[in-house]
Amino acid sequence: MKTKINLLYGGKSAEHEVSMRTALAVIQALDFQKYEVNPIYITKAGQWVQREALESPVKHLSELQIGANTSDDTALQVSANEIFVKTKESEEKAVIFPLLHGPNGEDGTVQGLLEVLNLPYVGNGVLASAAGMDKVVMKQLFAQAGLNQVAYVSFIRNDWEENHEQAYRKVEEEIGYPCFVKPANLGSSVGISKCNNREQLNQAFVEAFQFDRKIIVEQGVVAREIEIGVLGNDRPECSVVGEIVPKTDFYDYKAKYEDGDTALIIPADIPEETYETVKNMATKAFKVLDCSGLVRADFFLTSTGEVLINEVNTMPGFTPVSMFPLLWKHTGIDYPALIDRLVQLALERYNEKQ
Ligand code: ADP
Ligand code: MG
Ligand code: MG
Repeated sequence: MKTKINLLYGGKSAEHEVSMRTALAVIQALDFQKYEVNPIYITKAGQWVQREALESPVKHLSELQIGANTSDDTALQVSANEIFVKTKESEEKAVIFPLLHGPNGEDGTVQGLLEVLNLPYVGNGVLASAAGMDKVVMKQLFAQAGLNQVAYVSFIRNDWEENHEQAYRKVEEEIGYPCFVKPANLGSSVGISKCNNREQLNQAFVEAFQFDRKIIVEQGVVAREIEIGVLGNDRPECSVVGEIVPKTDFYDYKAKYEDGDTALIIPADIPEETYETVKNMATKAFKVLDCSGLVRADFFLTSTGEVLINEVNTMPGFTPVSMFPLLWKHTGIDYPALIDRLVQLALERYNEKQ
């Protein structure tokens, strides 16, 4: 019998397009002899749209934008609840594959919905997704696990509005320049600024607070950026390490999605000892956040060989040319096999809970 997969993609976040491209790639890589594939598209307006199962892989993105521009096509527009209740009533439960990045997809909210409906789904659960999306909570947990990281402070909008001067003095005393100001809950470098002085710091606060009521300010480091893939549930395994070499001052939104100029070097040219350190730290990070399925852990490697953890991404970029799938390809698990493995891990975790 075929395993049913409900692909959840699109979404309201800034990463809608990336998610679309990922969905197309996943559909093309899936073995239709093994899987029945149901697309569930979330429009930019946040509408959930479903159509009948696919018979074969689609070739174009436009074929996946079911009902995207057809506001009159109300027959296709159903609520998330209807989609999942329908899934729940069928004899066999479909595995939900949430190919969503950022808020309302990667942050535990969709995962919570799936938990409540008691459905199997690929990737991290509610806690890991939420903790991984909030850079302050994530760093507090990393500290708890004894993981080496940059110094940071955090602020909420109300406190800053009451006393700008006090906030800036805290940054200057505890962090210094250069520093990085980031919204606590985002990804894709959105709202992030590098600051070298008070004036830039002020601008960066204004910018970051547009995206979140909580921000983080980190000490800026001069370092190589290396990343590793982690795969598994209770016994996670690590991939080889890759390095990103952005052509810009830092790995900003433009470098990630528009330039295509950033070099990915796999495997990264690092000493064996550094690889062991990265692997151990990534595994610790995976465990302290109680991750499952997959994570891409990102690190800074300084010129003195010091390894600092930057973040984990609980739903990393997942097109065939993204770092996470490429890391696994170099480790011996190609794209279709990686998808198989993730579906398997989802079912394993689900069945364990029943
Ligand atoms: P996101 O979750 O949006 O990817 P990151 O924390 O990874 O946010 O920051 C995006 C990029 O900004 C990093 O890949 C790196 O290039 C740069 N960066 C972030 N924090 C620092 C830091 N503390 N020191 C130096 N560079 C940083
Ligand atoms: Mg991130
Ligand atoms: Mg990052």
